[in-house]
Amino acid sequence: MKYQIIACLILCLGATLSIGSWHHLKQHETLVIQNEVANQSANIAKVIRVQLTEQVQSLKRMAKRWEYNNGTPFDQWHFDALNFMTYEQAYHSLAWVDRYNTIQWAAPIKQKSESKLLLNEINQYHNNALQQARTTHTVAISQSVKLAHGGKGFLVFLPLYLKGEFDGYIVGVFSFNKLLSLILENGHFDTPITMMEAGQIVYQQVPENTRIDQNMLQTKITVYGRHWEIYNWPSQSLLNKNTSMLPNMVLTFGLCISLLLSFSFYFARQVERKKVELESKNDELRQKNKEIANTQSQLVHSTKLASLGEMATGIAHELNQPLQVISMNAEMGPEYLAQNKHNRVVKAFTDIMQQVDRAQSIIKQLRCFGRDSAHDEHQTISSNELVNSSLMFLKRQFFSKNIEVRENIAPALPQIKCNKVQIEQVLLNLLVNARDAVEDCDEKVVGIKAFQKDRRLYIEVYDSGVGIAPEAMDKIFDPFFTTKEVGKGTGLGLSISHAIIEQHGGEIKVESELGKGTQFMLQLPLP
Ligand code: ADP
Repeated sequence: MKYQIIACLILCLGATLSIGSWHHLKQHETLVIQNEVANQSANIAKVIRVQLTEQVQSLKRMAKRWEYNNGTPFDQWHFDALNFMTYEQAYHSLAWVDRYNTIQWAAPIKQKSESKLLLNEINQYHNNALQQARTTHTVAISQSVKLAHGGKGFLVFLPLYLKGEFDGYIVGVFSFNKLLSLILENGHFDTPITMMEAGQIVYQQVPENTRIDQNMLQTKITVYGRHWEIYNWPSQSLLNKNTSMLPNMVLTFGLCISLLLSFSFYFARQVERKKVELESKNDELRQKNKEIANTQSQLVHSTKLASLGEMATGIAHELNQPLQVISMNAEMGPEYLAQNKHNRVVKAFTDIMQQVDRAQSIIKQLRCFGRDSAHDEHQTISSNELVNSSLMFLKRQFFSKNIEVRENIAPALPQIKCNKVQIEQVLLNLLVNARDAVEDCDEKVVGIKAFQKDRRLYIEVYDSGVGIAPEAMDKIFDPFFTTKEVGKGTGLGLSISHAIIEQHGGEIKVESELGKGTQFMLQLPLP
């Protein structure tokens, strides 16, 4: 749970850093763009001021000439005016209006109707500006007017005086369109622009795709007492030049890296957690295996004890024989002594000792077989002794049940390294099963065959018994599978035999035909 929170923290930290860097880069770009727009805007304002001042200066020169010449003759005035308008293209028209407010001369207007239009334009504002010009004796600029030819403009009034007497005025009609187009074109300004006066748009050049909500800059400009506001935005080319993919790339890359880091951390911790879980599961499994091995060894021991029960009759018989010989010799001993037959006495004692040895060897074998042998070291023993001793336990039983025993044991088999008690247990189990299989048959044969081939010891136990049903063939090595009646079979013999042979690096196979008999084949590696 804790590491999930850490993974989230890594993600949040990474995302915050990425967004922070993105924001910083974007801000830097915006700043560069705003500076550029501010520069352009300041330059435009400066150029407007300079241009207008220059043009007004020209008008002032015309007014001076008027005063100097005591009224300029029409031809010269007209020539001056046209010349003036040719070089100062921001002019819409130029006129001399006499003291009675009548347009006397106008350039480039020829027709009466046009002259009237101009007068209209003048009259729109003549009161304020004219009065101002008259009283202050200086230049006055009207507020914006609608030009008869379209668009907006403004009028520049220049009062004329003859010998101190007001003699009308020169009026220059400027078009905002002309003035600003000229300035923008000559100054190579490509910034979108809107010029306003008292909240009214007087000039506008804003391309359609301009985002007017972004990076707008306002500059105020005052010329001869007239206030205008210029609004500028970054042009598309300026935006293209100063914006790059870098901020977005940094953001995407940063987010990806943080995501990757947090996932890597999360999965690494998950793997670690799973590893610990697996290790604990492994420990549990090891413990369980140990328990199973213990149980198995207990089972082996129990089945062995069960086999001992099976062999009780044979053992009794085996022990009975030496006991009979001992008893007979002991009985005869005093008689031989009485008859002074010393040699016979010695022989009787020797026989007794031999039989005691035999009984001791049988008991030793039984004790050996009876104890838990799972942890015994493997010992090197004679293969012949191994097979014969196993058979010895049951021979008497076979005899009493009229079972013919066929032995085919190669005489000088090599030594084998094994857990003697366990292999004996396997052979005993196979022989007991063979005995049970032939019990109710007319022909009762149990055989054992042992031979060596290719550094392997082969032992076969066969019988002429009932055989195994094909459907049972797959199950006979399963624990607790038995076809024997309750109390007689445990169903453990073959499964334990199989485990013992495998532990010895050998193999156990079975062939059987129902009603004819069964053959178990063991093979064990020779040292
Ligand atoms: P159990 O002898 O206690 O039943 P085993 O594991 O030794 O347990 O044998 C399992 C079963 O295999 C027997 O119940 C029997 O059905 C079958 N079986 C084993 N050996 C023979 C045999 N020689 N002939 C016929 N059936 C056999």
